[in-house]
Amino acid sequence: MTSKMALRRIQSIPELQKKYNIFTYIDQSAADKIIHDKNADLQLANLTAGIKDNIVTKDMPTTCASKILLDYMSPFDATCVKLLRDAGALLVGKTNLDEFGMGSTGTHSFFGPVKNPLFDNQDIVAGGSSSGSAAAVAADATDFALGTDTGGSVRLPAAYTSILGFKPSYGRISRYGVIAYAQSLDTVGIMAKDLSVLKKVFHVLDKYDEKDPTSLTNDLRTELSALNIQKSTYRIGIPKEFFQGSLSKEVVKPLSNFLDKLLRQGHELYPVSAPSMKFSLPIYFTLSPAEATSNLARFDGIRYGTRSEEGDYENGTLFAPTRSFFGNVVQDRLILGNYTLCSETFKDSYIKAQKLRVKLIDEFDKIFKFPNLLTGSKGHQNGLDLILSLTNDAWPKPIDFFNETRTPSPTNEYKNDVFVTPMSLAGLPAISFPLERGLPIGVQLAGQYGDDSTVLDACSLLV
Ligand code: GLN
Repeated sequence: MTSKMALRRIQSIPELQKKYNIFTYIDQSAADKIIHDKNADLQLANLTAGIKDNIVTKDMPTTCASKILLDYMSPFDATCVKLLRDAGALLVGKTNLDEFGMGSTGTHSFFGPVKNPLFDNQDIVAGGSSSGSAAAVAADATDFALGTDTGGSVRLPAAYTSILGFKPSYGRISRYGVIAYAQSLDTVGIMAKDLSVLKKVFHVLDKYDEKDPTSLTNDLRTELSALNIQKSTYRIGIPKEFFQGSLSKEVVKPLSNFLDKLLRQGHELYPVSAPSMKFSLPIYFTLSPAEATSNLARFDGIRYGTRSEEGDYENGTLFAPTRSFFGNVVQDRLILGNYTLCSETFKDSYIKAQKLRVKLIDEFDKIFKFPNLLTGSKGHQNGLDLILSLTNDAWPKPIDFFNETRTPSPTNEYKNDVFVTPMSLAGLPAISFPLERGLPIGVQLAGQYGDDSTVLDACSLLV
C-alpha cells in the first residue's frame, strides 16, 4: 500500500460514515500520521485499520457502544492495538458494534444501527456484533479491521457484507485490553477483503502475551508449527447437522457450484457428524450470559461506567439508575445470566451446558487428523483436515425487522448464530469467505484447535 492510497481511504471516511454509520469515533489526526510516517518498511505500513470499540485504545474513547461507557478513556492500549501500531498500521477510528458485543445484527448500539454497504440504497443489517468493522472493510473505508468473535461476531458480519472474517483459535491473539463479554469464548478476529492483508495482520498479532492468562504459550506455539503440513488438496468434512432444513433457492445453486469446484481441485469431501452441534445455541446462550453477568458487574458507576446523577437507588435496588444505562439486549442477557447462575438452576443449566460443551469438543476431536494439544486427543490416522459449512443460509434482513417492538423474541436473532457458535465453543480457528463474490452468504472453513495455518492455507486455494 502506498501512502497515497492510505490518504484516499482516510479522506473517504466522512462520506462513508454518513451513509453507513460505521464508526463510533473517527481519529481526525489520522491523515497527518501518514504524511509524517517515516516507517514505510514496517510490515503494516500504510494499511489503514478500524478497531472494534470494545478493544481499548489510549488515544480514542472506548465505549462498547453503550451509554454506560460514553466517557471512558483507557489509560493503556490493548496488546493487539499496540502490536498493530508497532507494525506501522494506521488506526483511523473505533468501529460501531452491538452493545458489549451482544447481538448479531449491528442494530443494538447506542450510536444507532450500522447499514450494510453491500445494499447501497436499502437499509439492510451488516450483521453483528462487529458490524462497524465489517462495514468499514466492505465500504473500503479501511484496509482491514479488528473485531471480536465470542459466538460468531466476526464471521457472521463478514458473510453479510461479503468479505473475509477470520476467528483464530482461542488464545492465539491476546485478549488483554479486550473488554470481556464471555472470557472463555472471546477471541480477537480480523476482517479484510484481501487474504494476503488478513494473513499479514494475523502474523503480527499471533504472539504470546504474558498479560493474558489464556494466551497460548510459546512452547505450544512451537509444537503446533512443527505439526503443520502444507498440502495442495485437503480432506474436508461437511457436518450433516448443518444441512437439516431446506436451503433457499438463491443458495443452492452457488453452493453446488462451489462444491463442484472443490472436487475439481482434487479435495475430498465427506459427510461427518458431531451430534452435540445441535445443542450449540442453547449451550452458548447459557454460558455466555452467565460469564457476561460476572464480567459486567464492574460497570456500577464506581469502578467503571458513568454514574447516574439522580441518586443511585430505586425501588430498594442500589445502582439501579446507573445500571439502567445498559440497553435492552444487555439487560436481558444479564437477567438470563443471573438466572443461570442462581443456586436453584445452576446444576440444570450452567453445569449441564459445560458438560455438553466438553462433549462437543470430544466429537470434534474424533473428526480431525490434527491432534488437539489442549484436550490431549492424538488425532486420527484417517481423520479430516477441515470442516466446511455455510456461515449463514439466508440473506441479511432489513434493519427495521429487528426493531424491538416488531421482533419481541430475542430467539429470532439467536437463530442466526447456528452455524458459527459450535466453533466458538470448541475454540476452533474458522474463517468465513464469500460463497460468491458480492453475495451476502459466507462459507465457513474450520480446523482443529491450533491448526490456524491449515485454515488459512486452504482458504487461499478456495477464494
Ligand atoms: N451473536 C452472538 C451474541 O449475541 C455472538 C456475539 C459475539 O460473537 N460477540 O452473543
